[in-house]
Amino acid sequence: MEFDIRFGSHISIKNGLTSALITAKNLGFHSLQLFTKNATRWLSKAPEEKDILEFNKLLKDNFYFKVVAHASYLINLASFNEDILKKSTDSIQDEINRCSKFNIPFYVIHPGSHMGVGEKQGLDQVVRSFNKIDIPQNVKILIETTSGQGSNLGSKFEEIAYVLSNIDKKNQFGVCYDTCHTFSAGYDIRDEKSFSNTMNTFDKIVGLKNIEVIHVNDSKFPLGSKKDRHEHIGKGFIGLDTFKFFINFPPFKNIPFLLETEKSDDYHEDIENCKKLQALIES
Ligand SMILES: [Zn+2]
Repeated sequence: MEFDIRFGSHISIKNGLTSALITAKNLGFHSLQLFTKNATRWLSKAPEEKDILEFNKLLKDNFYFKVVAHASYLINLASFNEDILKKSTDSIQDEINRCSKFNIPFYVIHPGSHMGVGEKQGLDQVVRSFNKIDIPQNVKILIETTSGQGSNLGSKFEEIAYVLSNIDKKNQFGVCYDTCHTFSAGYDIRDEKSFSNTMNTFDKIVGLKNIEVIHVNDSKFPLGSKKDRHEHIGKGFIGLDTFKFFINFPPFKNIPFLLETEKSDDYHEDIENCKKLQALIES
């Protein structure tokens, strides 16, 4: 089955980045997310020239709509621990350089955690960290909305706006909107009215035009729970019906919808979730 070109999921790179592209293609996905290296380590060996060439060759065949990279988990750009901060900025620089080589246009990252130092200080640290990075011309950094678990920054639209308006290279930044995270952060979307209220609020504070990617996940926990736990589409507290508002919302007609829900090696759960999304498209 060929899905709407916007639909796809996070695909494993355990057999290399090129193999992730092929996996996505075989599943009928035109969009996908991947890590650029092992997501649980600070450093990985440089990508092989052969893989870069193969990857770029596949990208040229026009099958793929959008490929998105996700930052590895250890990075914390809001850290006040010098060692962690240095490793974080080195790591993001390395990953962004990889995106550039592989012609991956979007790099999604969570703002980070202030670890008790305070929200304002944390956000200023994030801005300073972003300003240290050389961003290649072919890459845009997307700041992801978060649930606000612990001291995680980015759960209020104002925090995202604060970072976007204070960084130097404004035109090389955008937003990744996660449906589970914003819901667990307290923004309701479950009926037409609450969806449109949340979108209007986002538009006023951050600007809908800044959204380049949607992470399409249901939530294992209720509205405002601040818990970042993704559930399969229609099986969580957000509910199936809500996703039709996102999919048919005109500002989101041309951006990827990527699943970050639990999956097996054969990705059958992703196929099930994508079929549900596909059925919600209104012509
Ligand atoms: Zn996400």
